[in-house]
Formats: sequence, C-alpha cells, structure tokens
Amino acid sequence: MKENKAIQFLDLKKINLDFKNELQQSLSKVLESGWFVLGNSVSEFETDYAKYNHVKHCSGVANGLDAIILSLKAIGVGPGDEVIVPSNTYIATWLAVSYVGATPVPVEPKLDTYNINPALIEEKITKKTKVIIPVNLYGQSAELDVIMKIAERNNLFVVEDNAQAQGATCNGKMAGSIGHVNATSFYPGKNLGALGDGGAVTTNDEVLDKKIRIIRNYGSEKKYYNCEKGINSRLDELQAAFLSAKLVKLDEHNKQRNEIANLYNAQLKGVGDIITPVLAESCTSNFHLYVVRSKKRQELSAYLNKNNIGNMIHYPVPPHLQKAYTELNYKKGDFPLAEEIAGTCLSLPVYPGLPHESVNYVCEKIKQFYA
Ligand SMILES: *Cc1c(COP(=O)(O)O)cnc(C)c1O
Repeated sequence: MKENKAIQFLDLKKINLDFKNELQQSLSKVLESGWFVLGNSVSEFETDYAKYNHVKHCSGVANGLDAIILSLKAIGVGPGDEVIVPSNTYIATWLAVSYVGATPVPVEPKLDTYNINPALIEEKITKKTKVIIPVNLYGQSAELDVIMKIAERNNLFVVEDNAQAQGATCNGKMAGSIGHVNATSFYPGKNLGALGDGGAVTTNDEVLDKKIRIIRNYGSEKKYYNCEKGINSRLDELQAAFLSAKLVKLDEHNKQRNEIANLYNAQLKGVGDIITPVLAESCTSNFHLYVVRSKKRQELSAYLNKNNIGNMIHYPVPPHLQKAYTELNYKKGDFPLAEEIAGTCLSLPVYPGLPHESVNYVCEKIKQFYA
C-alpha cells in the first residue's frame, strides 16, 4: 500500500475546502450586496492586507502582472528607461517592464539563495536606469535592506515583486512593505491564493497609491471623467471577500510550510548531490516553493514521478533564453548562474496540510534514488 501512495505537488482542493464555510459566507455577502466591482469587499480587503503588510496603502488589482505594470506606470517608467531585474525569475517580472516600453536589465542571483545578488546591481546602473525590481523568489525575501541602500545612493525606485513571498520578512520588516511600491499576486497557487485571478499593490507613498487607483480604473477618479489613459485592472468583490477570509490563516499556513522545509532540510542535507535551499542572514521565507538542486535533476524527477510524488521545475528556461526575448539578443552562457539554476532545480511538494509522514516518505524515496 505505502509503496504506491500518491503525493500531490500542491493540493489546492484541500487547501480551499478547509475554508468552505467562510468562502460560502463570502459569496452570500457579495451576492446580497448587489455590488460586484470596486465596492466594500475590495475596500475591506485593501485595509486588511495593508494592515497585514504594515503599510499605509493597498490597491486591489486584477492580477500580479498588472500589479507590477501599474507600479511602473505610476512611477512614470516608459520607453527609453532601463529597469534592473533578476536573471533568475518568473518571466512576469520582465514582461511588466516590456509592457511599459522599458528595457529589462538582468542581474545574476546568488547561487545559494537563488535571489538577486545585490553586489552585482551597481555595475548595471546607467543614466537610463529608473527602477530596481527585486523578486522575493520561491518565498524568500530578497536582501531588500541592502537593495534599498543601493537605490537611495543612485536615486532609483524599488518595486518589489512580492508575488511569491507574502508573509516573509527582511530584517524583521514585511516583504511587500520595503520597496517604494510592492506588487503581489493572488493567483490560486500563491500562498495567499484567490479562487481565480487577483493582485495588489502596497505602498507607504500616498501619491503613488493615488496614481495606481486612478490608472487601474480607466484613468478615472470621478466616474466618466478621465484624467489619463488608464487600464481596466480591478480586483472584483468576490475575490476580495474570499481573500479576506483566507488572509486570517496565512501566517499559520506559512508556519506549516516552514516546518515542512525544516523536515526536508534535516533529511536531505548530504544525500547524493542534493543541494538544499539557503536563507540569507537577514531574510525569512514563506516557502512558497521548496527548491533543491541536483545534476541528476531529470532522472530524480522521473523517479519521483514513477513513485507518484508530485514535483515541478521552477523554471526550466530563464527569461533571457525565452523565444519571447529574442529581441534582446542574449545567448546561452550570458547569465550562467540563472542557467545553472534552470538546469538543476527541482521543486518538492510543500503546502499547508501536507502530512509530515508524506514529507518523510518523499525523503525516503530520494534517498532510495541515490542508494
Ligand atoms: C505569479 C507571479 C507573477 C504574476 O502573477 P499573476 O497573478 O499570475 O499575473 C509575477 N511574478 C512572480 C515572481 C510570480 O511568481
């Protein structure tokens, strides 16, 4: 029996069914309010999420990609500008830069934390640079304290891509509160996931917050009076109500993910050629993903699949080698650390409610693979 038990990579059904009553109450509340876009539920969630992040302002938007685009638009980034991005990230970070007409300028990660290496940022800053976008990748805060100092010295804005790290911290401060503007995603698979798409921008800057609110709603502050060419990127009432219900348990869920990561770390360190993830000294992680590295990644992944153990690769192709970015003329070897991570990384199952015995079983199977 035990030999064939299936372990999912992420059990979204279970995670959300644990909130069944709360989610049904949220649905009734919105249904009976008769108001479906930018109403009380969105305002309430914005207040809740701002409080959670220890920031003054939060604007609900349609998704995480839009949250970054709106942040860049509010700052005034456009054609001719350069934006520093990690070479090792999900492509959304780069796409947001491209969508406002600016150019992404990649910086390599630290190989142990997988996050942008602050020591390599300044050499990429030019007269055209406007913004640095650190990504809090796989759930670990980037070294935002150091990055903020670099930004101050060079008169740049910082936009955190905090899609993956809700609840993580840097020097005791919340990820999502440290950059001048901070973008996040409530895509169902994120640590705070909606039952559909959603996103938010958090900031302590009143002026930028106001701009984002205007741009997300057709460039309009007063209905049918448009002061600029905005877009339609609004969080809907239903998703906002769901998110308020789920936010209550985010810290507990992140704690469970950390316990699972600790179990993996303890059992996988020194097994075969496995490299377990490392946290920077000032940073914590919500373990959105638990990512190991191995030269035998393909074989290990196939072995886990054969044993019904979910696993994934985040991400198999770095943005600079994607067909979408042929215009930038990068080639293999240009960002060797991002390529090394893409070629060796493997994400193991981690989610709230994953039994510890399942984690132990995954570790047992990995040890068997190397035996
Ligand atoms: C998920 C994600 C995004 C985009 O979020 P969507 O809601 O899917 O648009 C951006 N950046 C990173 C790092 C992400 O993981």
